[in-house]
Amino acid sequence: MVKDRSGQIRPLLQDCRLEALVLMDPANLAYLCGFTGTDGVLVVTAGTSCFLTDSRYSTQARGQVAADAVQEYADKIPGILDWLRQAGIRRVGFEAATLPYATVLRLRDATSDLEWVPLDQELKPLRGSKDAEEIVALERAAGLNLEAIEAVLPLLVPGTMERQLATELEFALKRRGGQDKAFDFIVASGPRGAMPHGVASDKELVAGELVTIDFGTRVDGYHSDETVTLALGRVDARQREVFDTVLAAHDRAIAGIRPGMALRDIDALAREYIAGQGFGDYFGHGLGHGVGLEVHEYPVVSPRSESIAEEGMVFTIEPGIYIPEVCGVRIEDMVAVTADGCRLLTRIPKEFRSLPA
Ligand code: ZN
Ligand code: ZN
Repeated sequence: MVKDRSGQIRPLLQDCRLEALVLMDPANLAYLCGFTGTDGVLVVTAGTSCFLTDSRYSTQARGQVAADAVQEYADKIPGILDWLRQAGIRRVGFEAATLPYATVLRLRDATSDLEWVPLDQELKPLRGSKDAEEIVALERAAGLNLEAIEAVLPLLVPGTMERQLATELEFALKRRGGQDKAFDFIVASGPRGAMPHGVASDKELVAGELVTIDFGTRVDGYHSDETVTLALGRVDARQREVFDTVLAAHDRAIAGIRPGMALRDIDALAREYIAGQGFGDYFGHGLGHGVGLEVHEYPVVSPRSESIAEEGMVFTIEPGIYIPEVCGVRIEDMVAVTADGCRLLTRIPKEFRSLPA
């Protein structure tokens, strides 16, 4: 799915009065020119685009990258500066969020005839709306989540260690074509469920507990991110109440999504419901985040979000309730905003499910 998307970033040249953009963030490189290595530079001007890299990636880049030219440098900083000087560039934009400060200093110190302009908010929306091919890759990654959780169901029994479950899930995803785990999986059972980021531990699963599993993989560079909370045997009424509240909040948010809506209003659909049920103090994080070439990317779905839902945006809806030392529940799906609402990309059923224990 390699495309030359440098045209999408060119409007920034004019908006920010720049003569060139220098991009090095791997996700931006994958998006703008299809490069999947870890070290390269894309320079975009009004008239051309050039991908620069060293000998380790030259062959790969010549076969892979969609840009007007591919060039090899011996040394990165001089290589970039030489290219810019030959093109007569003076004002250059760079990725403020990801370019190391030390690299910025080296670029600045090397020359006084170039002006380096940090871009941050201006770059954020670049990958926000996904095209049809990107959504297909996200759906394929999400499809692997469903297959993998079904494959490990026999392990979801008392006595299994959380970490063993996480490891088996990772294998199950990779065996089915997942490129890698999307992040360190969260498997948090019983009271550990109260830690929103309770990475799998050596705790064993126990009957009567809820277990929260947050996991994902990558297909063609695009991530899946999904959370399911399951019951091991019978759980008490308090845990069931927490589960039902989170599920209802999740369903309300998904049912309410429309293009043109402020993302903070989507967050409010879930947050106000949870608060109305008396659990407002136990839902501290945002409702969701964009997913794509990075597992967490623009936009943020939270009370502080300034963004508006656009058709093609893909983000998670993941309300949770975390009661310290008691239990926790999170339910997470990925949705793609459509012309009149949204479509679920993740496929694991989210209704209450009690496994034999
Ligand atoms: Zn997640
Ligand atoms: Zn997430």
